Amino acid sequence: MADAQMMLAATYTQGGTLEIEEIARPVIERDEILLRVRAASICGTDVKIIRNGHRKLRDGQRIVLGHEFVGVIEQVGESVAGYPVGQRVGVAPNAGCGRCPACVRGKTNYCPAYTAFGIDQNGGHTVLVRIASQFVTQGNVIPLPPEVSDAEAALLEPFSCVINGVRSSNIELGDTVVIYGAGPIGLMHVLLCRLSGAAKLIAVDVRTDRLEQARNLGCDLAVDARQEDVVERVRYETGGQGADVVITACPAAEVQAEAVRLLAPFGRLCLFGGLPRTAGPVPLDTNAIHYGNLLVTGTTGGAVEDYRIAIRLVAGKRVELTRVVSHVFPLADLRGAYDAALAGTDGKIVLVADGT
Ligand SMILES: [Zn+2]
Ligand SMILES: [Zn+2]
Repeated sequence: MADAQMMLAATYTQGGTLEIEEIARPVIERDEILLRVRAASICGTDVKIIRNGHRKLRDGQRIVLGHEFVGVIEQVGESVAGYPVGQRVGVAPNAGCGRCPACVRGKTNYCPAYTAFGIDQNGGHTVLVRIASQFVTQGNVIPLPPEVSDAEAALLEPFSCVINGVRSSNIELGDTVVIYGAGPIGLMHVLLCRLSGAAKLIAVDVRTDRLEQARNLGCDLAVDARQEDVVERVRYETGGQGADVVITACPAAEVQAEAVRLLAPFGRLCLFGGLPRTAGPVPLDTNAIHYGNLLVTGTTGGAVEDYRIAIRLVAGKRVELTRVVSHVFPLADLRGAYDAALAGTDGKIVLVADGT
């Protein structure tokens, strides 16, 4: 029989590698919450950490992976009020110092001293998670309404990042929006831009299956960048004007440089996907920005507020996030889920606990 004090977890050790192993169950302090994971998903960031490590980790430091997870409260410390045992909650994964200008604005994801599950706190790709006090006091632990299923709830975190990106792109009714990258995140952008009033949605990718998926999710046009000149095609599709908004949801330097050239006057560019550090600086056509009165922005992560907006949109059936899911694994099959993620599957991989 399995040791009751141990639990299965997907861990990463800085300078080492991914392990699917039994680790000790966490113990909580009086101001903390213990969460039993109901569902989780694997992010590109998890894969990136396994491949490149993370700057917030010391050499040899081991963490449980996973910042996208939801669960049921298993136990609460004696000084925690308002969180009953048995309550199902989502967890926004970034908490800040609470005092810096970013934190005071509620943007804890931009705090220079941020801490996050699956980064420098043990995350949710396991059975039980210790929720440290600052996540409780900063409002990161949020009750989930019954309308949100466990599998959908696992996707609230990546969706909150997409909400941050789309809010920063100032989409207006009737806009033409181009989204580079039709992976799960690009597809979530498609769903949200549609909801935000975009009249024409154009997806760009280099993989046939992803382009087809973009069409299925409501893109008016899916452009294969291997076969077509994207700038020319977008100009043609917009009567020579260009797009109102371009969002880059892929880690490609050449896409960022090209994106500026797609925009209509007063257009907005959101550099949503970051680049690997090795990519170096990207040459931007600053005259296109100058003469076009363009706005160039970028976003990373999502704030607790974005996470709460995500809950309301999903509960209100305004978006169907599970449409970006390609694989569902039982939570106990962390090995299978990570094998699929590391092999570079197409869509989102979700893990759900038994009985979900
Ligand atoms: Zn993520
Ligand atoms: Zn801060």
